[in-house]
Amino acid sequence: MDKNLLALSPVEFITFLREEKISRFYFAFDDLNSTIISSHSQLTEIAEFLKNDNRDFNTHEGIFIQVSRHFNVLHCAFIHRTNRGQAAGGVRFWNYDKVEDFLRDGLRLAMGMTYKNALAGLWWGGGKGVMTEDESIDKNDSEIRKILYSEYGELMTSLNGCYVTAEDVGTKVSDMANVFSKTRFTTCIPAELGGSGNPSIPTARGVVSGMEAGLHFLDKTDLNNKIIVVQGLGNVARPMIKFLLEKNVKHIYAGDIFEQKVEEAYSEINNERVTFKLLQEDDRSLYLTECDIFSPCAVGATLNSRTIPTLNCKIVCGAANNQLEDPIEDDKRLFEKGILYVPDFLTNRMGIVNCADEQAGYIKNDPLIERHLDQKWEFSIYRTALNVFKTAGEKNETTGRTALKIAEEMSIRNNPIYGHRGKTIIKSLIANEWQNKNFDNYSLK
Ligand code: NAD
Repeated sequence: MDKNLLALSPVEFITFLREEKISRFYFAFDDLNSTIISSHSQLTEIAEFLKNDNRDFNTHEGIFIQVSRHFNVLHCAFIHRTNRGQAAGGVRFWNYDKVEDFLRDGLRLAMGMTYKNALAGLWWGGGKGVMTEDESIDKNDSEIRKILYSEYGELMTSLNGCYVTAEDVGTKVSDMANVFSKTRFTTCIPAELGGSGNPSIPTARGVVSGMEAGLHFLDKTDLNNKIIVVQGLGNVARPMIKFLLEKNVKHIYAGDIFEQKVEEAYSEINNERVTFKLLQEDDRSLYLTECDIFSPCAVGATLNSRTIPTLNCKIVCGAANNQLEDPIEDDKRLFEKGILYVPDFLTNRMGIVNCADEQAGYIKNDPLIERHLDQKWEFSIYRTALNVFKTAGEKNETTGRTALKIAEEMSIRNNPIYGHRGKTIIKSLIANEWQNKNFDNYSLK
């Protein structure tokens, strides 16, 4: 009987799973038969949904999910592609209305990581973690978070390294210490434990690099005397504004929807070349401000059919993930309006660059990280962006589409040392009935 599992809330779905005595389940792409295999016949409906979806499912190699032993929370690992190496990407702790929503989010974000990592020249594949919120628990309670993230670490260990997790929205560096307590397959752990710490400053520098590439491409100028609009005054935007001031920009207009953020930024930066603004709901003033660069550094989807027509800039370049509400149509809208779009997954890569190779050791001003920010290395943000703009110009196509095509091509190159090992790991998990392994086997008591 069709239960419409996709329409259930995550908590209702967990109730169903517990009734069916399912504590772990998976879906994996079988490339020989071009179909989806699932661990449980009771979940065929979800496998069918994945098979028939053309929007967010893109032959993802595996989706592994476990139910928390303690709370109504699902721990998920979405593994898109592992040709270049283990899937890498952060774990998001977020509230979803229904099963379809968290599946779509995980699928889309994992695919995005494949392209971000490949375009950065990293030998990592693409993956993303999702933890679904349970409204009945206090998610700010540190003891609860400790249990939840320790369980997430157990999931990582059980997956034998086909996915290596990291920090993302809703997750803090301190949570990563709890993940790390149960697995070696994590990055972004606190600096006190040998990790790379806060990625916001490198991310800000990366966005500035993307801006410089855009200006150079348009008219061989730089940031000197330019006007920049910054949407959001969070962890990335604040250091970015300071870097822009060092580059001698003429003026920055920056806004946030939270008064506290505006006040914090004002007291931290306090410069006559910056105008800070508290934005009201549906405030259009930043979009309308005449500027050289509009920089989305807030949340996703702020650029869409309603806001793009109001933009008054030459370049869009910012840190926010998924800034385009519709990646195809909004990319075209910017193109048709004559605005140069620096693709978000190209310019905001430094978060993952900063942490992905943590296990290879760490050097102050690490050359392996710094080269992403210079103008010489062929895979640096600057050079990659110039390559994307040039190729897009030659083909008269959008920059978003061009960047995706280059990333897609790079993402299917096999790792020079390990080959397509992640896929082999997934096959072995399935052959060894990962879903039936006792959870407690993985706990380091
Ligand atoms: P943050 O949460 O510290 O800051 C985001 C700010 O945007 C907040 O102050 C929030 O109040 C504000 N905001 C939300 N909606 C807004 C709106 N409509 N208009 C104006 N302001 C609004 O996040 P962050 O770490 O600074 O990251 C910014 C963006 O960059 C996010 O989309 C994040 O996913 C992405 N990103 C961050 C990193 C990183 O290293 N932190 C790396 C890659 C991508």
